[in-house]
Amino acid sequence: MEFAPSPIPATEPPRDCPRCPRLVAFREELRVEYPDWWNSPVNAFGDAHAWLGIIGLAPGKHGANRTGRPFTGDFAGQLLFDTLGKFGLASGTYAATPEDDLALNGAIIINAVKCLPPQNKPTPEEIRTCRPFLEGQIDALANPRIFVALGQIAHQSAVKVLGGRLPKAKFGHLAEHRMPDGRILIDSYHCSRYNQNTGRLTADMFEAVFARALELRATA
Ligand code: SF4
Repeated sequence: MEFAPSPIPATEPPRDCPRCPRLVAFREELRVEYPDWWNSPVNAFGDAHAWLGIIGLAPGKHGANRTGRPFTGDFAGQLLFDTLGKFGLASGTYAATPEDDLALNGAIIINAVKCLPPQNKPTPEEIRTCRPFLEGQIDALANPRIFVALGQIAHQSAVKVLGGRLPKAKFGHLAEHRMPDGRILIDSYHCSRYNQNTGRLTADMFEAVFARALELRATA
């Protein structure tokens, strides 16, 4: 499999980043079990000149951790990329592999935690330890004014990196948080299989988040 290059390569952690011992041990196990998988910190994906930053949680085992591209190859990616396509934020055809011709236009996806956590649950310390990478990546972008956080953990990391205050900025689907410098964060329930299957997040609810982002951009 060809792996996707990062649009902001200087900001990515090294492939053998040693900072989170539990995640390193899990990564090493998977490198033995699945030597053809990415099994490394997952790079950002999208447009280095994005106006919209999408903050995800962490790679999924059979998605980004396997393919090396955020949300690629797992259930969550289909809704995310379909929705981005509807709003002109993605072009090409998403085929669940980094070898497809999908491209993001004006948007970039960055995970709050770069390595796969067991059971999809990073510890608070792992989230904290990886945060400087998220911060460096957001700082490296030319002009993102609007952000979408997918789920509560991404929300918390994004608020901290963008200079907002927790717990004042409470997570809620479609909740909006204006940061001290004017940047705006919109929350969304994560587009996970669980949230979609339980009806917590519908396609309409997800589309409303990106419709709002475009509306804010037009009036900013
Ligand atoms: S989660 Fe982040 S800080 Fe931790 S090992 Fe991976 S890249 Fe390094």
